Amino acid sequence: MDILKRSTQVLIVGAGPTGLLAAIELVKRGISCIIIEKKEERSPFSKALGLHARTLETLELMGLADLFLEKGYPVTGSRLHFGIGKPSKLDFSQLDTPFPYVLVLPQYDTEEILENHLEQLGVEVERHSELIDLEINSEGALAVVNRNGHREQIQANYVLSCDGAHSKVREILKVPFEGNKENMIFFLADAKIKQFNSKGYMNVFMANRGMLFLLPFKNHYTRVIAVDLAKQNRPHSSELSLQELQDSVNNIAPGITLADPVWLSQFGTSHRLVPNYRHGNVFFIGDAAHIHNPAGGQGMNLGLQDVLNLVWKLEFVIKGYSHDSILNTYHEERHFIASQVISATSKMMHVVTLPSPILKRARRIVGKSATSLNAIKNFAVKGLTELKFNYRHSSQAINHYDKRLRKNALQAGDRVPDAYLFSGHSPQLNLFSILKQHPFTCFIYANHINDSNFDQAKKVSKQFQNEFGDLVRTYYILQNGAPSRDENLSTLIDVKNELQKKIGLTDGSIIVFRQDGIVAFHQKHIDLEQCSEKLRFWMLQRSLG
Ligand SMILES: Cc1cc2nc3c(=O)[nH]c(=O)nc-3n(C[C@H](O)[C@H](O)[C@H](O)COP(=O)(O)OP(=O)(O)OC[C@H]3O[C@@H](n4cnc5c(N)ncnc54)[C@H](O)[C@@H]3O)c2cc1C
Repeated sequence: MDILKRSTQVLIVGAGPTGLLAAIELVKRGISCIIIEKKEERSPFSKALGLHARTLETLELMGLADLFLEKGYPVTGSRLHFGIGKPSKLDFSQLDTPFPYVLVLPQYDTEEILENHLEQLGVEVERHSELIDLEINSEGALAVVNRNGHREQIQANYVLSCDGAHSKVREILKVPFEGNKENMIFFLADAKIKQFNSKGYMNVFMANRGMLFLLPFKNHYTRVIAVDLAKQNRPHSSELSLQELQDSVNNIAPGITLADPVWLSQFGTSHRLVPNYRHGNVFFIGDAAHIHNPAGGQGMNLGLQDVLNLVWKLEFVIKGYSHDSILNTYHEERHFIASQVISATSKMMHVVTLPSPILKRARRIVGKSATSLNAIKNFAVKGLTELKFNYRHSSQAINHYDKRLRKNALQAGDRVPDAYLFSGHSPQLNLFSILKQHPFTCFIYANHINDSNFDQAKKVSKQFQNEFGDLVRTYYILQNGAPSRDENLSTLIDVKNELQKKIGLTDGSIIVFRQDGIVAFHQKHIDLEQCSEKLRFWMLQRSLG
């Protein structure tokens, strides 16, 4: 029998959250893709329960955040109970982000939203289609797929391995998944809770016996995760009963009763990372690239942000706007972030499992004081919500660093915060809504308009337009004063001085933002040739002809 052969620009293996989001973003950008999934149906388990602030920011920049906001609910903080005194509070509501909360949404809802949206864009997940072989070739890779019991071949220019922790792509390509088992046993339940009012917060209980985490999510159900230090020798394969979990809860946080579980599970954890996120034209994304313990609920969030880092670069290379080499920045930027998360989540677990009574006492003291110190609190909150991550470690960011900028100014590789701006057309304009419109956005800042700085801004705008066409849009930003009505250069006004305060823009400075909310570069003074050179890292000259 003839084997069916098809071809596509991008083959996505796996329709979990990362594969689905990647498919949406590629289709929106006019890239052809096929998404295959070995299972017939989506997983019914709640798994990842929260979208963090940074994930929501990036989804907002891609025009997708509303889809999730409609279905989830915001949790604005957490309460840490150390068994003595009042619980300590971690408050997200003061964070400088349009999303100062964790958006609680079970993973089955997240996947349903994504899959429905993908269908609206005209692409269906090809279910019951399992990747069984993959061969790298000169045009990308040739995949062999078992689809409903029949073999077929798919030739793809690029393959996205979104096939989870037990990635088949990794196995076929013999890419190691480096790391260790953590030797920790976690208990999990989605259950109803009695005799405890979470007041809509995440609650974490730390006791000598271990740790308990509670997060209310949907239909009066609460996610319960427990680490019971007295039960770490249970065989990994044993079934967890409600009685067993209740016994652990009684010992960690007495007085809380669990009932009507819809999911009970026991799982072990590992910390693992692929050494390189890129293997030829194959890219590892999400759990296929990194796994770690569930502390802080970071796994799916990291994967979704991986996608948003990669897709626009893939679009640029496929459409001929950029050299293939920009695809290497995906590994450089994202691998480091995953290694930081792995390090942070394993440290969190070390705190839970400190062995001796003295260290346990220290944990409580440190815990109490840590949560009462604002600086440490901010650090913890920014880490949890992933707002503190940046790509300053990447070679591009290091090369584009400008030491003349003031200390707290944003540099290449930094996350861009949202900011309020005034434009004649739309008084309620915010920075994110501007960044959505073009792949790169350039701001030239002036305290007051004068002929010299306005002419210079026009020169920059013209040069970027000539070299990069519509890929870069330039704005002239005034701290205050009357805007110019020049047709070729839009003016915005920094009425609240937010660009000065949050980003560090000053009279005569220039900044270019990437569409994924990252600073491409920031210079204290305009040197047109140097600025163009920095942009040429990301784009070929006259790419639009
Ligand atoms: C109990 C639990 C709680 C969690 N809590 C959180 C949390 O609070 N916050 C958070 O951010 N993360 C959390 N996570 C992690 C989160 O669930 C994962 O990080 C996320 O599912 C990873 O998404 P993914 O798309 O990379 O992989 P997956 O969701 O694993 O999807 C991979 C897909 O690929 C398919 N596939 C595999 N092999 C093939 C093949 N050969 N051919 C075709 N298809 C294939 C699979 O069937 C699957 O559908 C939790 C996980 C668990 C288990």
